[in-house]
Amino acid sequence: MTPAPTDPPAPSGVFAHAEVEGFEQVAFCHHGPSGLRAIVAIHSTALGPALGGTRFRPYATEADAVADVCRLARGMTYKHAVSGLDAGGGKAVILGDPRTLRSEALVRAYARFIDGLGGRYLTAEDVGTTQADMDLIRTETPHVTGVSEGLGGSGDPSPATAWGVACALQALADRLFDGELAHRHVVVSGVGKVGAALVDHLVAAGARVTVADVDPGAVEAVRARHPGVGVADAATAHTVACDVFSPCALGAVLSARTIPALRCAAVCGSANNQLEVPADGVRLVDAGVLYAPDFVVNAGGVINIAEERHPSGVPYDRARAWDRVAGIATTLGRVLDRAAADGTTPAEAADRLAEERIAALAPVARLRTATPGGGTALP
Ligand code: NAD
Repeated sequence: MTPAPTDPPAPSGVFAHAEVEGFEQVAFCHHGPSGLRAIVAIHSTALGPALGGTRFRPYATEADAVADVCRLARGMTYKHAVSGLDAGGGKAVILGDPRTLRSEALVRAYARFIDGLGGRYLTAEDVGTTQADMDLIRTETPHVTGVSEGLGGSGDPSPATAWGVACALQALADRLFDGELAHRHVVVSGVGKVGAALVDHLVAAGARVTVADVDPGAVEAVRARHPGVGVADAATAHTVACDVFSPCALGAVLSARTIPALRCAAVCGSANNQLEVPADGVRLVDAGVLYAPDFVVNAGGVINIAEERHPSGVPYDRARAWDRVAGIATTLGRVLDRAAADGTTPAEAADRLAEERIAALAPVARLRTATPGGGTALP
Protein backbone atom coordinates (compact mmCIF):
# COMPACT_ATOMS: atom_id res chain seq x y z
CA MET A 1 0.00 0.00 0.00
CA THR A 2 1.30 3.48 -0.84
CA PRO A 3 1.82 5.43 2.38
CA ALA A 4 -0.37 8.49 2.89
CA PRO A 5 1.61 11.75 2.52
CA THR A 6 1.35 12.38 6.28
CA ASP A 7 2.76 8.96 7.32
CA PRO A 8 6.30 9.20 8.71
CA PRO A 9 8.78 7.37 6.48
CA ALA A 10 9.66 3.86 7.63
CA PRO A 11 13.16 3.66 9.12
CA SER A 12 15.77 2.52 6.63
CA GLY A 13 19.53 2.28 6.34
CA VAL A 14 21.38 2.85 9.61
CA PHE A 15 18.15 4.04 11.27
CA ALA A 16 16.63 0.59 10.80
CA HIS A 17 19.42 -1.26 12.63
CA ALA A 18 17.82 -3.27 15.43
CA GLU A 19 19.96 -1.60 18.08
CA VAL A 20 19.20 2.02 17.20
CA GLU A 21 15.65 1.87 15.88
CA GLY A 22 13.39 4.00 18.03
CA PHE A 23 16.28 5.92 19.62
CA GLU A 24 16.10 9.70 19.69
CA GLN A 25 19.82 10.11 19.15
CA VAL A 26 23.01 8.07 19.00
CA ALA A 27 26.05 10.36 18.98
CA PHE A 28 29.63 9.37 18.19
CA CYS A 29 32.61 11.35 19.40
CA HIS A 30 36.21 11.11 18.28
CA HIS A 31 39.03 13.21 19.69
CA GLY A 32 42.28 12.21 18.00
CA PRO A 33 44.85 13.82 20.32
CA SER A 34 43.57 12.02 23.44
CA GLY A 35 42.44 8.82 21.70
CA LEU A 36 38.83 9.34 22.81
CA ARG A 37 36.20 7.28 21.05
CA ALA A 38 32.84 7.54 22.77
CA ILE A 39 29.19 6.84 22.00
CA VAL A 40 26.18 8.39 23.74
CA ALA A 41 22.81 6.73 23.22
CA ILE A 42 19.71 8.77 24.07
CA HIS A 43 16.80 6.37 23.99
CA SER A 44 14.07 8.68 25.26
CA THR A 45 13.68 12.13 26.78
CA ALA A 46 9.90 11.79 27.10
CA LEU A 47 10.10 12.00 30.89
CA GLY A 48 13.09 14.35 31.13
CA PRO A 49 16.77 14.53 30.20
CA ALA A 50 18.31 11.15 29.48
CA LEU A 51 20.21 10.00 32.57
CA GLY A 52 22.69 7.13 32.63
CA GLY A 53 26.27 6.30 33.46
CA THR A 54 29.39 6.27 31.32
CA ARG A 55 30.88 2.80 30.90
CA PHE A 56 34.62 2.77 30.07
CA ARG A 57 35.80 -0.59 28.76
CA PRO A 58 37.25 -2.29 25.71
CA TYR A 59 34.89 -3.82 23.15
CA ALA A 60 35.79 -6.50 20.61
CA THR A 61 34.15 -4.42 17.85
CA GLU A 62 32.53 -1.00 17.51
CA ALA A 63 29.28 -2.78 16.66
CA ASP A 64 29.46 -4.50 20.06
CA ALA A 65 29.84 -1.09 21.70
CA VAL A 66 26.79 0.29 19.87
CA ALA A 67 24.73 -2.76 20.85
CA ASP A 68 25.80 -2.49 24.50
CA VAL A 69 25.21 1.24 24.89
CA CYS A 70 21.78 1.01 23.24
CA ARG A 71 20.67 -1.98 25.33
CA LEU A 72 21.74 -0.18 28.49
CA ALA A 73 20.13 3.15 27.49
CA ARG A 74 16.80 1.48 26.74
CA GLY A 75 16.93 -0.18 30.16
CA MET A 76 17.45 3.22 31.81
CA THR A 77 14.25 4.54 30.19
CA TYR A 78 12.28 1.71 31.80
CA LYS A 79 14.07 1.96 35.14
CA HIS A 80 13.36 5.69 35.46
CA ALA A 81 9.78 5.39 34.26
CA VAL A 82 8.74 2.61 36.63
CA SER A 83 10.52 4.36 39.51
CA GLY A 84 8.52 7.56 39.02
CA LEU A 85 11.55 9.66 38.08
CA ASP A 86 11.39 12.66 35.75
CA ALA A 87 14.33 11.35 33.76
CA GLY A 88 14.71 9.73 30.38
CA GLY A 89 16.94 6.87 29.34
CA GLY A 90 20.50 7.28 28.16
CA LYS A 91 23.89 5.71 28.49
CA ALA A 92 27.42 6.29 27.21
CA VAL A 93 30.46 4.18 26.51
CA ILE A 94 34.09 5.16 26.12
CA LEU A 95 35.86 2.50 24.06
CA GLY A 96 39.18 1.27 25.46
CA ASP A 97 40.90 0.05 28.57
CA PRO A 98 40.61 2.71 31.30
CA ARG A 99 43.83 1.46 32.94
CA THR A 100 45.90 2.51 29.93
CA LEU A 101 43.74 5.02 28.04
CA ARG A 102 42.45 7.27 30.84
CA SER A 103 44.03 10.75 30.90
CA GLU A 104 42.92 14.19 31.96
CA ALA A 105 42.82 15.27 28.30
CA LEU A 106 40.56 12.33 27.36
CA VAL A 107 38.11 12.85 30.24
CA ARG A 108 37.91 16.59 29.57
CA ALA A 109 37.40 16.02 25.83
CA TYR A 110 34.63 13.59 26.71
CA ALA A 111 33.10 16.17 29.08
CA ARG A 112 33.01 18.79 26.32
CA PHE A 113 31.29 16.26 24.08
CA ILE A 114 28.63 15.79 26.80
CA ASP A 115 28.35 19.56 27.14
CA GLY A 116 27.65 19.84 23.42
CA LEU A 117 24.51 17.74 23.88
CA GLY A 118 23.08 20.71 25.75
CA GLY A 119 21.65 18.85 28.74
CA ARG A 120 19.70 16.25 26.76
CA TYR A 121 22.04 13.68 28.34
CA LEU A 122 23.22 13.69 31.98
CA THR A 123 26.10 11.38 32.71
CA ALA A 124 27.09 9.48 35.87
CA GLU A 125 29.58 6.90 37.13
CA ASP A 126 29.42 3.35 35.77
CA VAL A 127 31.73 0.36 35.27
CA GLY A 128 35.22 1.68 34.50
CA THR A 129 34.56 5.29 35.50
CA THR A 130 35.12 6.81 38.93
CA GLN A 131 33.89 9.64 41.06
CA ALA A 132 37.16 11.45 40.29
CA ASP A 133 36.19 11.25 36.59
CA MET A 134 32.79 12.79 37.39
CA ASP A 135 34.45 15.60 39.34
CA LEU A 136 36.74 16.27 36.37
CA ILE A 137 33.79 16.20 33.96
CA ARG A 138 32.09 18.77 36.21
CA THR A 139 34.87 21.27 35.42
CA GLU A 140 33.74 21.25 31.76
CA THR A 141 29.97 20.76 31.99
CA PRO A 142 27.09 20.91 34.49
CA HIS A 143 25.49 17.89 32.81
CA VAL A 144 26.99 15.33 35.18
CA THR A 145 25.63 13.69 38.35
CA GLY A 146 27.12 11.77 41.25
CA VAL A 147 29.97 14.21 41.79
CA SER A 148 31.61 14.33 45.22
CA GLU A 149 29.58 15.49 48.18
CA GLY A 150 32.20 18.23 48.63
CA LEU A 151 31.12 19.61 45.23
CA GLY A 152 27.44 19.49 46.23
CA GLY A 153 26.79 16.08 44.69
CA SER A 154 25.43 12.85 46.13
CA GLY A 155 28.68 10.88 45.91
CA ASP A 156 28.94 7.12 45.39
CA PRO A 157 25.44 5.74 44.57
CA SER A 158 26.20 2.23 45.88
CA PRO A 159 24.99 2.75 49.49
CA ALA A 160 21.66 4.08 48.17
CA THR A 161 21.40 1.13 45.78
CA ALA A 162 22.02 -1.29 48.65
CA TRP A 163 19.39 0.48 50.77
CA GLY A 164 16.90 0.12 47.92
CA VAL A 165 17.61 -3.62 47.65
CA ALA A 166 17.14 -3.95 51.40
CA CYS A 167 13.76 -2.18 51.14
CA ALA A 168 12.75 -4.47 48.27
CA LEU A 169 13.71 -7.51 50.37
CA GLN A 170 11.54 -6.19 53.19
CA ALA A 171 8.64 -5.83 50.74
CA LEU A 172 9.12 -9.47 49.73
CA ALA A 173 9.24 -10.49 53.39
CA ASP A 174 5.91 -8.71 53.89
CA ARG A 175 4.41 -10.87 51.13
CA LEU A 176 6.15 -14.16 51.69
CA PHE A 177 7.36 -14.34 55.28
CA ASP A 178 4.76 -12.47 57.42
CA GLY A 179 6.89 -9.34 57.38
CA GLU A 180 9.87 -10.90 59.11
CA LEU A 181 13.37 -10.84 57.64
CA ALA A 182 14.76 -11.97 60.98
CA HIS A 183 16.08 -15.56 60.75
CA ARG A 184 15.31 -15.70 57.02
CA HIS A 185 18.21 -17.02 54.98
CA VAL A 186 19.51 -14.72 52.23
CA VAL A 187 22.37 -15.71 49.88
CA VAL A 188 24.18 -12.64 48.53
CA SER A 189 26.25 -13.46 45.45
CA GLY A 190 28.80 -10.68 44.89
CA VAL A 191 29.86 -8.61 47.89
CA GLY A 192 31.37 -5.58 46.18
CA LYS A 193 30.17 -2.04 46.82
CA VAL A 194 26.45 -2.89 46.78
CA GLY A 195 26.49 -6.48 48.08
CA ALA A 196 28.67 -5.71 51.09
CA ALA A 197 26.47 -2.77 52.12
CA LEU A 198 23.39 -4.98 51.64
CA VAL A 199 24.86 -7.55 54.04
CA ASP A 200 25.14 -4.79 56.67
CA HIS A 201 21.39 -4.10 56.36
CA LEU A 202 20.48 -7.80 56.41
CA VAL A 203 22.57 -8.55 59.48
CA ALA A 204 21.03 -5.51 61.22
CA ALA A 205 17.57 -6.94 60.39
CA GLY A 206 18.52 -10.25 62.01
CA ALA A 207 18.62 -12.26 58.78
CA ARG A 208 20.84 -15.31 58.34
CA VAL A 209 23.27 -14.41 55.55
CA THR A 210 25.51 -16.46 53.27
CA VAL A 211 27.88 -14.66 50.89
CA ALA A 212 29.77 -15.70 47.76
CA ASP A 213 32.31 -13.85 45.64
CA VAL A 214 35.03 -14.78 43.16
CA ASP A 215 37.31 -12.42 45.09
CA PRO A 216 38.32 -14.00 48.43
CA GLY A 217 39.33 -10.54 49.69
CA ALA A 218 35.76 -9.27 49.26
CA VAL A 219 34.43 -12.21 51.30
CA GLU A 220 37.03 -11.70 54.01
CA ALA A 221 36.20 -7.97 54.26
CA VAL A 222 32.54 -8.87 54.95
CA ARG A 223 33.46 -11.62 57.42
CA ALA A 224 35.75 -9.23 59.29
CA ARG A 225 32.69 -7.08 60.03
CA HIS A 226 30.21 -9.95 60.43
CA PRO A 227 31.94 -13.17 61.57
CA GLY A 228 28.61 -15.02 61.70
CA VAL A 229 28.05 -14.75 57.93
CA GLY A 230 28.35 -18.05 56.03
CA VAL A 231 30.32 -18.54 52.82
CA ALA A 232 29.34 -20.38 49.63
CA ASP A 233 31.23 -21.16 46.46
CA ALA A 234 30.72 -18.43 43.86
CA ALA A 235 30.02 -20.91 41.05
CA THR A 236 27.22 -22.71 42.93
CA ALA A 237 25.82 -20.00 45.24
CA HIS A 238 22.52 -20.04 43.33
CA THR A 239 22.00 -23.70 44.30
CA VAL A 240 22.16 -23.07 48.08
CA ALA A 241 18.81 -23.71 49.81
CA CYS A 242 17.62 -20.34 51.15
CA ASP A 243 14.64 -18.00 51.35
CA VAL A 244 16.01 -15.35 48.96
CA PHE A 245 18.84 -15.51 46.43
CA SER A 246 20.29 -12.03 45.91
CA PRO A 247 22.47 -11.64 42.79
CA CYS A 248 24.72 -8.60 43.30
CA ALA A 249 27.50 -9.35 40.81
CA LEU A 250 27.00 -10.02 37.12
CA GLY A 251 24.04 -10.10 34.75
CA ALA A 252 22.51 -13.17 33.04
CA VAL A 253 22.63 -15.25 36.24
CA LEU A 254 19.07 -16.49 35.71
CA SER A 255 18.95 -18.79 32.71
CA ALA A 256 17.64 -22.12 31.42
CA ARG A 257 20.73 -23.66 33.02
CA THR A 258 20.58 -22.03 36.47
CA ILE A 259 16.83 -21.66 37.17
CA PRO A 260 16.17 -25.41 37.60
CA ALA A 261 18.93 -25.47 40.24
CA LEU A 262 17.48 -22.62 42.36
CA ARG A 263 16.28 -23.61 45.83
CA CYS A 264 14.84 -20.29 47.01
CA ALA A 265 11.40 -18.72 47.32
CA ALA A 266 12.45 -15.45 45.69
CA VAL A 267 15.22 -13.67 43.76
CA CYS A 268 15.96 -10.05 44.64
CA GLY A 269 19.33 -8.40 44.01
CA SER A 270 21.12 -5.44 42.51
CA ALA A 271 22.77 -7.02 39.45
CA ASN A 272 21.65 -5.52 36.14
CA ASN A 273 20.04 -7.69 33.45
CA GLN A 274 19.66 -10.79 35.62
CA LEU A 275 17.47 -12.64 33.08
CA GLU A 276 19.61 -14.09 30.30
CA VAL A 277 16.60 -13.93 27.95
CA PRO A 278 13.04 -12.65 28.54
CA ALA A 279 11.71 -16.24 28.59
CA ASP A 280 13.61 -16.76 31.85
CA GLY A 281 10.90 -14.66 33.54
CA VAL A 282 8.39 -17.37 32.60
CA ARG A 283 10.82 -20.11 33.69
CA LEU A 284 10.98 -18.50 37.15
CA VAL A 285 7.19 -18.41 37.44
CA ASP A 286 7.04 -22.07 36.38
CA ALA A 287 9.71 -22.92 38.97
CA GLY A 288 7.62 -21.24 41.68
CA VAL A 289 10.25 -18.55 42.32
CA LEU A 290 9.06 -14.97 42.85
CA TYR A 291 11.33 -12.64 40.85
CA ALA A 292 11.72 -9.02 41.91
CA PRO A 293 12.67 -7.31 38.60
CA ASP A 294 16.25 -6.03 38.71
CA PHE A 295 15.57 -2.55 37.34
CA VAL A 296 12.89 -1.98 39.98
CA VAL A 297 15.06 -3.29 42.82
CA ASN A 298 18.33 -1.55 41.89
CA ALA A 299 16.94 1.94 41.19
CA GLY A 300 18.18 3.35 44.51
CA GLY A 301 21.31 4.77 42.91
CA VAL A 302 19.44 6.78 40.26
CA ILE A 303 16.73 7.85 42.71
CA ASN A 304 19.50 9.20 44.92
CA ILE A 305 21.16 10.94 41.95
CA ALA A 306 17.85 12.49 40.86
CA GLU A 307 17.66 14.17 44.25
CA GLU A 308 20.79 16.12 43.29
CA ARG A 309 18.59 17.94 40.80
CA HIS A 310 15.47 18.48 42.81
CA PRO A 311 12.91 20.45 40.74
CA SER A 312 12.62 23.07 43.47
CA GLY A 313 16.37 23.65 43.35
CA VAL A 314 16.90 22.69 47.01
CA PRO A 315 20.36 21.25 47.70
CA TYR A 316 20.89 17.49 47.86
CA ASP A 317 19.77 16.06 51.19
CA ARG A 318 20.75 12.48 51.99
CA ALA A 319 17.88 11.79 54.44
CA ARG A 320 15.31 13.04 51.91
CA ALA A 321 16.94 10.98 49.16
CA TRP A 322 16.96 7.79 51.22
CA ASP A 323 13.29 8.26 52.14
CA ARG A 324 12.56 8.38 48.46
CA VAL A 325 14.68 5.29 47.81
CA ALA A 326 12.55 3.44 50.38
CA GLY A 327 9.65 3.94 47.95
CA ILE A 328 11.12 1.02 45.98
CA ALA A 329 9.13 -1.22 48.36
CA THR A 330 5.88 0.39 47.15
CA THR A 331 6.93 0.24 43.50
CA LEU A 332 7.79 -3.44 43.80
CA GLY A 333 4.41 -4.08 45.44
CA ARG A 334 2.65 -2.40 42.51
CA VAL A 335 4.65 -4.48 40.04
CA LEU A 336 3.88 -7.77 41.78
CA ASP A 337 0.17 -6.85 42.15
CA ARG A 338 0.01 -6.00 38.47
CA ALA A 339 1.69 -9.27 37.50
CA ALA A 340 -0.85 -11.20 39.60
CA ALA A 341 -3.80 -9.23 38.17
CA ASP A 342 -2.66 -9.62 34.55
CA GLY A 343 -1.46 -13.21 34.92
CA THR A 344 1.94 -12.17 33.61
CA THR A 345 5.51 -12.22 34.88
CA PRO A 346 6.85 -9.53 37.24
CA ALA A 347 9.36 -8.44 34.57
CA GLU A 348 6.58 -7.96 32.00
CA ALA A 349 4.39 -6.16 34.53
CA ALA A 350 7.26 -3.75 35.32
CA ASP A 351 7.70 -3.05 31.59
CA ARG A 352 3.98 -2.37 31.17
CA LEU A 353 3.87 0.03 34.13
CA ALA A 354 6.89 1.89 32.73
CA GLU A 355 5.35 2.10 29.24
CA GLU A 356 2.04 3.33 30.63
CA ARG A 357 3.75 6.14 32.55
CA ILE A 358 5.70 7.20 29.46
CA ALA A 359 2.53 7.16 27.33
CA ALA A 360 0.64 9.21 29.93
CA LEU A 361 3.37 11.84 30.38
CA ALA A 362 4.84 12.10 26.87
CA PRO A 363 2.19 14.70 25.83
CA VAL A 364 3.30 16.84 28.79
CA ALA A 365 6.91 16.55 27.61
CA ARG A 366 5.85 17.75 24.16
CA LEU A 367 4.25 20.79 25.79
CA ARG A 368 7.51 21.46 27.59
CA THR A 369 9.60 21.31 24.44
CA ALA A 370 7.11 23.65 22.76
CA THR A 371 7.68 26.44 25.29
CA PRO A 372 9.82 29.38 24.11
CA GLY A 373 13.49 28.71 24.67
CA GLY A 374 12.37 25.11 25.34
CA GLY A 375 14.32 21.95 24.77
CA THR A 376 13.93 19.30 27.40
CA ALA A 377 14.59 21.38 30.47
CA LEU A 378 16.76 20.09 33.26
CA PRO A 379 14.74 18.95 36.27
P1 NAD B 1 31.36 -4.16 42.32
O1 NAD B 1 32.28 -4.34 41.17
O2 NAD B 1 31.76 -3.26 43.44
O3 NAD B 1 31.06 -5.60 42.99
C1 NAD B 1 30.80 -6.75 42.25
C2 NAD B 1 31.33 -7.93 43.05
O4 NAD B 1 30.95 -9.12 42.38
C3 NAD B 1 32.87 -7.94 43.16
O5 NAD B 1 33.26 -8.13 44.52
C4 NAD B 1 33.27 -9.13 42.28
O6 NAD B 1 34.45 -9.80 42.75
C5 NAD B 1 32.06 -10.02 42.41
N1 NAD B 1 31.89 -10.98 41.35
C6 NAD B 1 32.26 -10.91 40.04
N2 NAD B 1 31.92 -12.03 39.39
C7 NAD B 1 31.29 -12.82 40.29
C8 NAD B 1 30.70 -14.10 40.21
N3 NAD B 1 30.66 -14.80 39.07
N4 NAD B 1 30.16 -14.62 41.34
C9 NAD B 1 30.18 -13.94 42.52
N5 NAD B 1 30.74 -12.73 42.65
C10 NAD B 1 31.29 -12.18 41.54
O7 NAD B 1 29.95 -3.75 41.71
P2 NAD B 1 28.72 -3.07 42.46
O8 NAD B 1 28.78 -1.60 42.27
O9 NAD B 1 28.60 -3.64 43.82
O10 NAD B 1 27.50 -3.56 41.54
C11 NAD B 1 27.03 -4.90 41.63
C12 NAD B 1 25.93 -5.12 40.59
O11 NAD B 1 24.86 -4.21 40.84
C13 NAD B 1 26.36 -4.88 39.14
O12 NAD B 1 25.65 -5.76 38.31
C14 NAD B 1 25.91 -3.46 38.88
O13 NAD B 1 25.71 -3.23 37.50
C15 NAD B 1 24.62 -3.43 39.66
N6 NAD B 1 24.22 -2.09 40.05
C16 NAD B 1 25.04 -1.32 40.83
C17 NAD B 1 24.65 -0.04 41.19
C18 NAD B 1 25.52 0.81 42.07
O14 NAD B 1 25.03 1.83 42.60
N7 NAD B 1 26.79 0.46 42.29
C19 NAD B 1 23.41 0.47 40.77
C20 NAD B 1 22.57 -0.34 39.97
C21 NAD B 1 23.00 -1.62 39.62
